[in-house]
Amino acid sequence: MGVNKVQINYDNGNGIEVRVNDNSATLQDLLDAWQPLCDDERLYKLYAQNQHRECRGCTVNCCNTAYVIPDLIAFKKMAKFTGLDYPEFITRYFQKDKLRVGLLRMQPDPCIFLQDNVCTIYPLRSLICRFYLCCKVAGDTEQLIYSLSWTGAAATQLFVEELGLLPGSSGYGLSSFDMMFKKLIEDYRYDPNVKLFMKAREYSDIPLAPFI
Ligand code: SF4
Ligand code: SF4
Repeated sequence: MGVNKVQINYDNGNGIEVRVNDNSATLQDLLDAWQPLCDDERLYKLYAQNQHRECRGCTVNCCNTAYVIPDLIAFKKMAKFTGLDYPEFITRYFQKDKLRVGLLRMQPDPCIFLQDNVCTIYPLRSLICRFYLCCKVAGDTEQLIYSLSWTGAAATQLFVEELGLLPGSSGYGLSSFDMMFKKLIEDYRYDPNVKLFMKAREYSDIPLAPFI
């Protein structure tokens, strides 16, 4: 049997650890390997029932409070799903006071796509949503998923700015979370890997190697 291009290891000491076994691995390979973790009852999840139940049915549900700035692939797919053009999608689905300070945060508390405790766009959700788990993640793996999620979010920011749909940012009225996320977007917007997200249609178009 062949070795998977991306392998996930888990132990309670180190947490979740990603190993990339093949230089041709893509972001989609990583997502395919990561997805079963949501249902993996071996993991210690801080907010899960008994700390070991699957995410489905979680009563805390991180979607209630999530701060989601979508990556560009998810942004385009979600807009298409709603049937709205980009200006209307942004107006209806993103938090207005965050738009005013130059941040593309999807409407929260709970997330606008959450209904009856279930994500209504689950197959289209963004990288931030896909990677978040309330459990320990090994250092290198945390850096990898962080870098992928924020490079993708910076690509969305650039794309929307280029369309003239995000007003100039101001520093007024920013919460500490806003400032942190704004800084992350600023840090990543000049990353050469942003171009990979700008060109890609699917996660399978994005190679993992430049992020490792
Ligand atoms: S990751 Fe989210 S849904 Fe899953 S157990 Fe933690 S809080 Fe609940
Ligand atoms: S898009 Fe879906 S997974 Fe992401 S926060 Fe909203 S409801 Fe949760």
